[in-house]
Amino acid sequence: MSIQVSETPAQASAREERQKAGQPAHWLHSKPTEFHNPWPSFRSNQLPGFKDAVTMLPYMFSMLTNSSSVLPDKETVAKIPIQKPTWGVGDSKLVAENAQKIKATWLGHACFLVELPSATAGVRGPRILFDPVFSDRCSPNQWMGPKRYTPPPCSLEDIPEIDAIVISHNHYDHMDTTSLTNLLARTPAPHVFAPLGNESYFEGLSIPASRAHCLDWWDARRVTSSAASPTTFDITFTPGQHFTGRGLRDRFKSLWGGWVVESSPSPQTSSSSSAENTTPPARIYFGGDTGYRSVPSDTDDGPDTLPVCPAFKEIGARFASGFDFAMIPIGAYQPRRAMSPVHCAPRDSVALFQDIRARRALGMHWGAWFLTTEHALEPPRLLKEEGRKKGIEEGAFGVCGIGETVVFEVGGKAEGVAGKVE
Ligand SMILES: [Zn+2]
Repeated sequence: MSIQVSETPAQASAREERQKAGQPAHWLHSKPTEFHNPWPSFRSNQLPGFKDAVTMLPYMFSMLTNSSSVLPDKETVAKIPIQKPTWGVGDSKLVAENAQKIKATWLGHACFLVELPSATAGVRGPRILFDPVFSDRCSPNQWMGPKRYTPPPCSLEDIPEIDAIVISHNHYDHMDTTSLTNLLARTPAPHVFAPLGNESYFEGLSIPASRAHCLDWWDARRVTSSAASPTTFDITFTPGQHFTGRGLRDRFKSLWGGWVVESSPSPQTSSSSSAENTTPPARIYFGGDTGYRSVPSDTDDGPDTLPVCPAFKEIGARFASGFDFAMIPIGAYQPRRAMSPVHCAPRDSVALFQDIRARRALGMHWGAWFLTTEHALEPPRLLKEEGRKKGIEEGAFGVCGIGETVVFEVGGKAEGVAGKVE
């Protein structure tokens, strides 16, 4: 199997237009070497700073040293179901039943393996792995830094063959060198898609530029795998409200964002019979790590008139037929004043869900590392409440267990969004 990556037909003309338009609003300079969030919904002076560091110092210290005082207790952790993944294809009956559906397996925090519908009977659909982090600690080293309180549901070796790895940004809880080195050394070799500014990181891992694609917001690529039965999907990098940096000197030097993946409506071969050309295109959204608005204080969410990040309505407008499935962050939002510019609380996640026109979604960015000060089980509880308030159909946007596969109809309803966490 080999994988070809090219610009999408629409991308080629869009690129020319953008070049004429000059420097994009999110670039700080004429070259893409530093970035910012170009919206009033982001206030950089609210990024976690000195005052918050002082407030959070006891937490920070405990998190870094992993004192048990900040880690969730055993009873809390036991309420988060963990199972060994079956990837939605546990037996041959399931394989047949789920062939035309999206199969999403949550591997904890922001890591998902998604298999799009297969275009040909008996052959797997395209598989995309988002933000794989299998290390114990999300930090520059494995002796200090936030430690997982739930284990990954499987080992890296258990992950089935994948076509693409997709990275939202370079924070340690989303881009893990040990996991990437392992996965990218596989045969057949997956391609990796990441934000602009990560070129030298992948060079450092000896991944050739032909396999590591670092994209700007709205860049799109067509991925074609020439296996026995070819599959094609398009992937677009979309804006979000966040920041980046792995050390002291690289803050905002690489870009951040979410991803849209759309499967091709039919196999791209002239030999395929018309009977095979029945798979409808599937469309999914991966939110990565994002904020939605900047609230004034830890206890006051502010008025409804506060500016919100306009990127999500734009995503909804550009992909107007909506998303069959979206992965949306719901955790790591306390203290709110410091975290709201960069992390959604469930109230924001629900608004984002509606802005992008998702039909179904699962909440992520919770349940693995203790990064902020809210209770470990608060994000799924608040998600339920906020969904109800906004009139979202019960189960349309919920959570699932770690290692659980949730199956989504293309153009239809989800089957069994679990929402088991009480
Ligand atoms: Zn982040």
